[in-house]
Amino acid sequence: MEPVDLLALIAKETSACTKCDLQYSRKNAVPGAGPQNAEIMFVGEGPGFHENEQGLPFVGPAGKFLDELLEKVGLPRDEVFITNVVKCRPPNNRDPLAEELAACDGFLERQIAAINPKVIVTLGRFSMQKYLPNAKISQAHGQAVRIKGRLVVPFYHPAAALHQPSLRSAVEADFARLPEWIEKAGDVPEYVEEQSHKDDDEQKPEQLSLF
Ligand code: SF4
Repeated sequence: MEPVDLLALIAKETSACTKCDLQYSRKNAVPGAGPQNAEIMFVGEGPGFHENEQGLPFVGPAGKFLDELLEKVGLPRDEVFITNVVKCRPPNNRDPLAEELAACDGFLERQIAAINPKVIVTLGRFSMQKYLPNAKISQAHGQAVRIKGRLVVPFYHPAAALHQPSLRSAVEADFARLPEWIEKAGDVPEYVEEQSHKDDDEQKPEQLSLF
């Protein structure tokens, strides 16, 4: 199946999905938007009020800020793919639960496989923790890692800067470095997960290896 058809199929499936309780707060699923051959994929947290109404990602105030940030680094929004770790709105914009993240992850994985982006920019701690489960966003933001050959760049969620104006300059500085990360993508070393020797079946918490 062609990537464009796979993405359409995923969108159709999310609109009728019953894999987790977020189905009950869904008016419209928000599978994501962007070209099937995007080199850069942004992965946020979950749909908010406006996204749930329109079925499109990042269309509220955080989306407008994201548009501004993209414009400043010369990245047209219609050239990037934008999605979230959960495709249905958590009630009252609460954090997604672990079981909801797990239930929805297959859709995101299939989107990544279909698009095969060079760079994944995670927006906020929930999408960062998909790749760096023990990282703190206050330390990891703006630092790229290579995971399974793909550049992963964790950023704060744009909404964080709207709620906490003190974060705005950090968010802007991270975005300003995005073209540099993309250019240097080949120089970023593969992220190495440290293994515990204490017990063959047990692993130490991951240590963040930053470039
Ligand atoms: Fe299905 Fe994901 Fe929506 Fe849960 S959030 S109902 S797993 S599409």
